[in-house]
Amino acid sequence: MNPLMSFRDLELAKNLVADIKQLHPSHRTVICHVCGTHEWTVTHFGLRSLLPDLVEVIAGPGCPVCVLPAADIDVAVELARKGVTITTFGDVLRVPGSHSSLAEAKAEGGDVRVVYSIQNAATMARKEPNRDFAFFAIGFETTAPLTANEILKAPPNLSFLSSHRLIPPAMEFLLGVGDLQIDGFIAPGHVSTIIGLDPYRVFADAYHMPVVVAGFEPIDVLFAIDMILRQTHEGEARLENEYNRAVKPEGNLKALDLMAQVFDVVQGGWRGLGKLPQSALSIKDEFIERDAHQKHQVTKKKGRDFLPGCQCHLVMMGKIKPSECPLFMEACTPSEPRGACMVSTEGTCRIWALHGGSGLQ
Ligand code: SF4
Repeated sequence: MNPLMSFRDLELAKNLVADIKQLHPSHRTVICHVCGTHEWTVTHFGLRSLLPDLVEVIAGPGCPVCVLPAADIDVAVELARKGVTITTFGDVLRVPGSHSSLAEAKAEGGDVRVVYSIQNAATMARKEPNRDFAFFAIGFETTAPLTANEILKAPPNLSFLSSHRLIPPAMEFLLGVGDLQIDGFIAPGHVSTIIGLDPYRVFADAYHMPVVVAGFEPIDVLFAIDMILRQTHEGEARLENEYNRAVKPEGNLKALDLMAQVFDVVQGGWRGLGKLPQSALSIKDEFIERDAHQKHQVTKKKGRDFLPGCQCHLVMMGKIKPSECPLFMEACTPSEPRGACMVSTEGTCRIWALHGGSGLQ
């Protein structure tokens, strides 16, 4: 099917594609997004097939489940083995730890429960006040304010493992990966509704890197690509907001305030990327009784992030396409994932496996 047929406003989409083709660069131009939902939109709607040959859209580390380092999974597994009830989102259960996943800990008898929201976890804890619960909190700036809010009001038997990570430091990391040579960023709309525009200014101002904050409909992504190509065509580097129907320049001040009350910004480990400065949220000392590490005396140890042969680190940096991993759809499939990128609905490998990414390249 012609990918254009999936657009609600066909004429607008055709005009955008024509504009993008007119702006076609004379050299390879790499546009990087850092959002699992953007990858889903790009792949599901076949947007790559609408672009000029020299324009490439690559996926950075935008899946919050995929970037969870094994060391964080190991702590959750250890807590489950100590008898603490672990609550978390379904995707997290199958992410490999160094030796075991939470799904395996559950199969061994650990009390590991899937929840659909953090409020769901708090409700469970309130219903069983004599049991110790820990919520394994993952996600980027989009979900961190919800965790902060629950930390302020959770029942005493609920503590938290904070594995929240921040997107702008990961974007900055990618710019240091010499052989990537990114020409522009599509910034994630959901994250930007919280953080606003300011954290991205450094990319345009200091790195001369175009950044366009974009929504998630296929037309949003096409607009963002067009806006980035226009900037590169003009030799400009600006921060632009394609998603101004949802993203305010200042972000969500209430959410930012909640995060600042509860979390310190610290160095954090990312699966595939290593330790990035100022990229993780740690629970402040004044809420020490809410921090599951402190409450249950568990310490994070060095983890083993990859099983032999897994190329997730290269996929998450956008260095290779999932189909370039020798295990893709051979030893690693959505039903038998070998690496974190095949586990989550936002993982690039899983998206390509289920939505035909390889067929569009
Ligand atoms: Fe990792 Fe599987 Fe993707 Fe290969 S196909 S990079 S093993 S998730």
